[in-house]
Formats: sequence, C-alpha cells, structure tokens
Amino acid sequence: MEQHYYNVIIVGGGISGTALFYELSKYTDIESMALFEKYSRIAPLNSNGKNNSQTLHCGDIETNYTIEKAEKVKKTAQMLSNYAIKNGYKDKYIFKFPKMVIGVGDEEVEFIKKRYEKFSSLYGYLKLFTKEELSKIEPKLIEGRKEDIVAMGALDEYCAMDFGGIAETFVENAQKTKDKVCDLYLSTEVYDIEKKGNKYMLNTPRGQFFADYVVVDAGAHSLLLAHKMGYGKEYSCLPIGGSFYYAPASILGSKVYTVQNDKLPFAAIHGDPDILAKGKTRFGPTALALPKLERYRDTTYIDFIEAFSPDKNVLKVFYDLLSDEDIRDYIFKNMMFEVPGIRKGLFLKEAKKIVPTLTEDDIEFADHVGGLRPQIIDKKNRKLLLGEAKIDTKEGIVFNMTPSPGATSCLGNALKDVELISTYLNCRFDRGRLEEELMKGA
Ligand SMILES: Cc1cc2nc3c(=O)[nH]c(=O)nc-3n(C[C@H](O)[C@H](O)[C@H](O)COP(=O)(O)OP(=O)(O)OC[C@H]3O[C@@H](n4cnc5c(N)ncnc54)[C@H](O)[C@@H]3O)c2cc1C
Repeated sequence: MEQHYYNVIIVGGGISGTALFYELSKYTDIESMALFEKYSRIAPLNSNGKNNSQTLHCGDIETNYTIEKAEKVKKTAQMLSNYAIKNGYKDKYIFKFPKMVIGVGDEEVEFIKKRYEKFSSLYGYLKLFTKEELSKIEPKLIEGRKEDIVAMGALDEYCAMDFGGIAETFVENAQKTKDKVCDLYLSTEVYDIEKKGNKYMLNTPRGQFFADYVVVDAGAHSLLLAHKMGYGKEYSCLPIGGSFYYAPASILGSKVYTVQNDKLPFAAIHGDPDILAKGKTRFGPTALALPKLERYRDTTYIDFIEAFSPDKNVLKVFYDLLSDEDIRDYIFKNMMFEVPGIRKGLFLKEAKKIVPTLTEDDIEFADHVGGLRPQIIDKKNRKLLLGEAKIDTKEGIVFNMTPSPGATSCLGNALKDVELISTYLNCRFDRGRLEEELMKGA
C-alpha cells in the first residue's frame, strides 16, 4: 500500500528539490521523505540543461559579483563539483573547458585588469590573457577585431554542468540510502497545501499526503503556492525568459563571458560549447519579461496573475526600472530579439562583441531552448531582488524561489533547509560528514 505520511515532503523535482532530497537522505536521520514532481521526469523545466546556460558559476568570471559575493558562490559551487567528481560524473555531467571573461575596448580592458588583481587572490588559478595569447587559445575572439581586448580566466577548470543529469543522480543516490523511505512521485502535481493540526496536507491527483515539514522548491510556482496559503504576500514574481542562438561548434571551444552591466546582472550574453546539443556553440541568453510561470506552457498565464499580484508598489518598481535609460533600452532590445524576421540581425550585433566575424548565416534561433528565471519583487521595499528568495514561515513550511545561479547553489541552498528542518523536527544532522564529503576545498 502507498504510504501517505512522510516526515518531510518536497514539492518540485528540479535541481533544488532533488539536492535537498539527497542531503536529507544522506546526512540526517529523517526516516521518510517524498519528492513530488508534476511532470513525468526529473528536471523538466529550468534545471534541464537545454533551458539554462550550463555554467557552474563560481564567481571568478561573473563581473557583477563583489568579492564577498564571489567568496560565497565559490563555496557552494565547490560543493556541487565535489559531489559530481566524487560520484564519478566527470565528462558525463561535469566538464572542463577553458573559461574566461573578456574586456573589449579601453574601458573594459582596464576594468578586467583591475578585477584580475583583486580576484586572483581568491582564485589562484586565474590568468590574464593578452590579445596575442587569446589569438592562440580562442582565435575567433581576435579575428577581425580592431579594439583592444583582454581576458581573465582559466584553461583547466570544471566549469560546465548538465544540471538536469545531476538532479537525476541526486534522486538515484538518495534512493540507495539504506533503511529509509525515499519515495518519488512523478506526474503528480501538488494542487494545494493545507495546515492540519501540526501536520501539512498536500492535495494531489493521487490523493492526500501528510507531512511534518514541507519544502516547496517549485520555481515560480513556489510563490503561487505560498500566496494560496496566505504567505509571501509581500512578494511578487517577475518571470524573465531567456533564449539562445546556435552556431557551429567550430566557432568557440571555451566558455566566453562578457562584462556585465551592474544594473542588469546576468544580462550580458556569453558564448560556449553546448554540452547537450553536441556540435553546437550557443550564444545567449536573452532576457525577456514574460507574463507566465512556465516558458512553454500557456496555461500558466493565469498562475502568473496570481503570483504577480500587482499593486502600487509593484508598479513603482516597474516605473523605476523603466525610468533608467540603460534598463529601458535593454528591455526593448530583448523584446526585439524574439521577433521572427528581425531577431537574427539584431542578436548578431550583440554576439559580434564576442566573435567579430560572425555572420547571420552562422547563427540560428534555438527553438524551445531556454527557461524562465523567477525574479522576485520585494513589494515592501519596492525592489527587484536579484538573487534567491526564501519564505521561511517558521511553522514547518518553506518556499524557495531560485533564479540564477540557483542551479550552482543547489547544495548550499539545500543545506540551509536541512538546518531549518533538523532544528524544527529535532532530528540528527551529521554536518561533519557533509562538510567532509562536500565542502573540502571550499
Ligand atoms: C536562461 C537561463 C540560464 C541559466 N543559467 C544558469 C547557469 O548557467 N548556472 C546556474 O547555476 N543557474 C542558471 N540558471 C538558473 C537555474 O536554471 C535555476 O536557478 C535552477 O534550475 C532552479 O532550479 P529549481 O529546482 O529551483 O527550479 P526548476 O528547475 O524550475 O524546478 C521546479 C520544479 O517544480 C515543479 N513543480 C512546479 N509546481 C509544482 C507543483 N505544484 N507540484 C509538483 N511539482 C511542481 C516543476 O515542474 C519543476 O520541475 C539559468 C536560468 C535560465 C532561465
């Protein structure tokens, strides 16, 4: 008979939910847990490698990070690469490529040089590559380029990951844990959650399930489920879609990032070898605000209205964003990147910053590739939050929203929830073993 009660239930089988499933099974004495995913497979949406940039963001080439933020990201990225390497997923789910961020033109060249001085103490392997060195490492960056260029990066580091593949391994490895119930329910949407005494009841197509503690890792739907329960009303969700363009593999052999605009983190495009679509270089992602909670499912327009919950504070955030010329131009430009007929030519201008000799014939719009980032608007402070957001009710239920680099930080984010859960349920958490296995070198 199916068990309908668990100590912990996790909603959402992306990389966040599966990472938590893994950590709870391995490092706590919680006896029973279940993971619910509404689609028929693990990581069907944003965690799927087709829909994200496949980059293990460790803070060395992301120019929007301060050194303090880079230090934090480095630790969580290290947890994930330790996990992947220790479990034998080299060249299966984790890959080495040369990686770099380029500075183009005098101002950016100076910026990268200064950044290198500061960041090379944190990342001992970082090197500064001159134009001449780049012409040997990545010739297409130099061909046809008049401006000065410099890059900061590394040639032999793990930097690409199939996050969807890793999410599957989290489930497999959790289910191998002895003497524990670790059940997975695919094709099982959690419609809503109700508090019943000191437990939570989850309504699903398979009936009602009960748990002492619930973690909702359902992407943009986390906020919707929170709102339905009366939590997180101070937040609104602005989903930002990202598209990609394909070019032949011969164009780039490295992950090449560009300098980010501080006001628009993760907005600058990059180019890199696609680890899933073999034989292709990918450029992107673009960034387009979309009124739905899933990129390719139109029924989520209605869900969006509920999660967006517009009011004067949300409108103020939009007003502020649109008042900034850089942001206004960026929003408009990215809308144009989606319009068939003109998008290729417009995107080409952007991609030529990386490969100056690229032509329209080299690139094609990658259809149905790219997911959505659930960016959160803090209504109280009238601010667009740029990182992850958590609603910790302190009543045995937590809701997580994890835009970029949420896939890289999955084990770090899961650790925060393991700590909350073990305190709330008064169960044992073997932090020492987790540190030994996942955090060495971090
Ligand atoms: C274009 C783009 C590029 C990115 N690039 C990177 C990158 O290079 N590196 C990086 O670290 N991060 C990147 N990210 C961010 C990263 O993809 C996300 O942070 C990460 O995938 C979030 O994982 P998640 O498990 O929280 O959410 P998701 O992967 O969205 O998973 C949520 C899951 O919950 C399920 N679900 C929703 N509602 C319910 C329900 N009611 N019942 C049951 N199941 C439900 C969904 O079906 C889904 O499978 C990128 C994102 C985008 C869009």
